[in-house]
Amino acid sequence: MARKFFVGGNWKCNGTSEEVKKIVSTLNEAEVPSEDVVEVVVSPPFVFLPLVKSLLRSDFHVAAQNCWVRKGGAFTGEVSAEMLVNLSIPWVILGHSERRALLNESNDFVGDKVAYALSRGLKVIACVGETLEQRESGSTVAVVAEQTKAIAEKISNWDNVVLAYEPVWAIGTGKVATPAQAQEVHAELRKWLKDNVSAEVAASTRIIYGGSVNGANCKELAAQPDVDGFLVGGASLKPEFIDIIKSAT
Ligand code: PGA
Repeated sequence: MARKFFVGGNWKCNGTSEEVKKIVSTLNEAEVPSEDVVEVVVSPPFVFLPLVKSLLRSDFHVAAQNCWVRKGGAFTGEVSAEMLVNLSIPWVILGHSERRALLNESNDFVGDKVAYALSRGLKVIACVGETLEQRESGSTVAVVAEQTKAIAEKISNWDNVVLAYEPVWAIGTGKVATPAQAQEVHAELRKWLKDNVSAEVAASTRIIYGGSVNGANCKELAAQPDVDGFLVGGASLKPEFIDIIKSAT
């Protein structure tokens, strides 16, 4: 099965309603390859999700940046998967390294979140990635395998999962992974899926790269055989996000 290129824009904790409207109108005016060629998903903060969903062109979709690990209830400050489904938000980003690091989200917790979100019918962008220290000590593949394993143990269907490889040292730093570095880890992740899940899942699951992707470096990364798209932070707030979408072709 051919893997459709996927470009996600993670807006993180940024924006006012005016700024959000401006970004959406830039996206709406852009000429990009068709939905058959590239799947585009933007992820505004929770509070702007309904606004963005109502204004955004119909060939682009929205994602939440997180959701609660189980059914909603007495969990002050959380947003449940059920609520996202209720608002017809199709996607959610889970396991982002900022949440793993700053909010102590463990591999197990992320695995539970992915499983619960999928069980409610959401599609998931599941993030994995090593720190600089882990890379320098040679444990990159072990770290991302362990993070992926914690997810794989809890799910049985990968159809609605996009795996995002986001080295922590590359996020927001301007230090993008080289195409060879990205390709190497993506190939290892695909091999891990083949050996531990199935050949079909390995062949069909999109593995996207995130970490300082921009309009200038996207083409070369996109040309790597196991790079199936991007999760873009900083540059997704700028017009160059359009160039990143265009790197699908
Ligand atoms: P960045 O962030 O593109 O700003 O490095 C990527 C991400 O955190 O998803």
